[in-house]
Amino acid sequence: MSTDIKIQQIDKSRIDSVDFDKLAFGKNFCDHMFSLEYADGAWCNPHILPYGPVPIEPGACSLHYGQTVFEGLKAFRGKDGAVRIFRPDMNAKRLRTSCERICIPPIDEEIFIRAIIELVKLDKDWIPPKRGEAFYIRPLVFSSEGHLDVRPSTEFRFLIMTSPVCTYFGDDFRTIALKVEDKYTRAAPGGVGYAKTGGNYAASLLPGKESLNAGYNQVLWLDGRDHNYVEEAGQMNIMFKIDNTFVTPPLKGTILPGVTRDSVLTLLRDKGHDVEERPISINEVIEGSKNGKLQEAFGCGTAAVICPVGKLFYQNEVYDIKGCKPGPSATELYNEILGIQLGEIEDKHGWNVVVD
Ligand SMILES: *Cc1c(COP(=O)(O)O)cnc(C)c1O
Repeated sequence: MSTDIKIQQIDKSRIDSVDFDKLAFGKNFCDHMFSLEYADGAWCNPHILPYGPVPIEPGACSLHYGQTVFEGLKAFRGKDGAVRIFRPDMNAKRLRTSCERICIPPIDEEIFIRAIIELVKLDKDWIPPKRGEAFYIRPLVFSSEGHLDVRPSTEFRFLIMTSPVCTYFGDDFRTIALKVEDKYTRAAPGGVGYAKTGGNYAASLLPGKESLNAGYNQVLWLDGRDHNYVEEAGQMNIMFKIDNTFVTPPLKGTILPGVTRDSVLTLLRDKGHDVEERPISINEVIEGSKNGKLQEAFGCGTAAVICPVGKLFYQNEVYDIKGCKPGPSATELYNEILGIQLGEIEDKHGWNVVVD
């Protein structure tokens, strides 16, 4: 494939139509998007064009059978004026893993990262100014071939769109309440839980809606076989601090391998904390809440970075975690990761791709 990216710039920017004081998550899209097409056995035609609707065959396999995967990552502008993209190599690798599971031809990691750098450069004025706000990057691959046969497609489209996004919490880092989900499941052994594919999200909409209606922010997913072991919190990985040890479920196929999860584990190990990737039963968590050994619980994901959990609802009982306040470790990890992303804290592991 020729890796030259053709660029068709927008005539007039839409940036003036966006109220940067009222950003939501992924509501406004920046001026440009990246596109790649797969046909005749190869990815081709890398180009950047104005963001806008794309024609799609009504028979496209992605629409009917969900042959689609996506990614999510962020870029930031630091006080030093430099723009940093956080760990895009991890997203490139995960996209490859997701593609393999859904029978989509993989996207070259180098073109993935170069396309993101070009988009960030073109639309850098869209990077929001406030601390914690970010330039969100959403790569998406979908089959575009019109056929109703249930078989892998032979035509695909890869797009990268970008969007200025608000902080998850506004000015106030606070805890969320989780409904422990013991009816629905997110993923099962042998399924697609480790792939970032649309179907996982479609399946989570009803449980998510029911938990909101019941007064909770998200669900805490349990394992698909026995509803016994904790897996994820909504669309985030979950971590517990129990008796001064940080514990998170292992990556055994039903859990999405989060970049934030990996960053948190790395930072905790750097500091010499005890860290365990092992199965955690919901009973261990509930017992820990009762006897005080559960010091903290928090979700990790690109959108929120760290999301402290203050309450659990399980089998008609509500359990508080340490007075429903964000814990010291969650707060420290949030500040540390954001500090690295903004170039204020030394990037020891070379996570940032700096765009000048
Ligand atoms: C994307 C995602 C995460 C978080 O991954 P990050 O790379 O940290 O953003 C966790 N769980 C699910 C189900 C996800 O889709």
